[in-house]
Amino acid sequence: MGYCDERVSLITGAKGGIGWAIARALGQQGSKVVINDIGPKEELEEKARELSLEGIEAIGLVADITRKDEVQNMIDTIINHWGKIDVLVNNAGITRDALFLRMKDEDWDRVLEVCLRGTYCCTKAVVKHMIKQRYGRIVNLSSVVGVAGNAGQTNYAAAKAAILGFTKSLAREVAARGITVNAIAPGFIDTDMTKKLPSNVQETWLKQIPIGRWGQPEEVATLVAFLASPGAGYITGQTIHINGGMFMA
Ligand code: NAD
Repeated sequence: MGYCDERVSLITGAKGGIGWAIARALGQQGSKVVINDIGPKEELEEKARELSLEGIEAIGLVADITRKDEVQNMIDTIINHWGKIDVLVNNAGITRDALFLRMKDEDWDRVLEVCLRGTYCCTKAVVKHMIKQRYGRIVNLSSVVGVAGNAGQTNYAAAKAAILGFTKSLAREVAARGITVNAIAPGFIDTDMTKKLPSNVQETWLKQIPIGRWGQPEEVATLVAFLASPGAGYITGQTIHINGGMFMA
């Protein structure tokens, strides 16, 4: 059995559109999979059962990634259960859009907390295990918005841009330990997050996508699964864009 078949992967926010597709893609590659989200517990357990039916070893663990104590409990549970964590996908994220002058303090704070502090808390708890085993793959979900900006999303864009600086700096710190850290920047992907945008906003964005359609969560998952694979060991500190040509870096 190759190393690939023994991997353990943790995906945060894995109940949602992109996270769920990533969990399945990593599972289909042969990885054991931890599905994290804010609950309810029964729903995560049901998701894990769904993967088991496809022959994927999976568990569902509830944790709010902004809470260090909950994250630490989750990581301890994974280590007790499977002994290690090889892949961390910092996927959980939220939007709370408003034009800047109308943005509420709590919406600024919560978006930064989930998207940025959540990534910090999970990475902090996982990376020490990766350093010990001298192997790890970390993939952070940024966004095209973090690179290009978007009116109405100053909070989200700030968090997603910060993730890029975090990714590059951590990549430099842990590269010699066999750990890669990369970010992906999706454009508009067909999930609950984009479905809640008003239809006129959706139409405006669609006109700016040369490929002429939304991306599918499975397409993002294929990219994440590649970056998380042992074969991607010479890629680190990068931002990979996946946006149908809407933004070209
Ligand atoms: P989604 O809303 O479908 O899923 C996000 C998941 O994160 C949800 O299941 C939610 O419950 C979970 N979550 C929220 N707060 C959490 C917390 N504190 N702890 C644990 N889990 C929490 O969104 P999605 O479209 O699947 O987005 C996934 C990631 O991709 C996000 O980081 C998002 O910013 C990013 N992204 C999405 C798009 C897009 O077009 N959908 C584009 C670029 C980037």
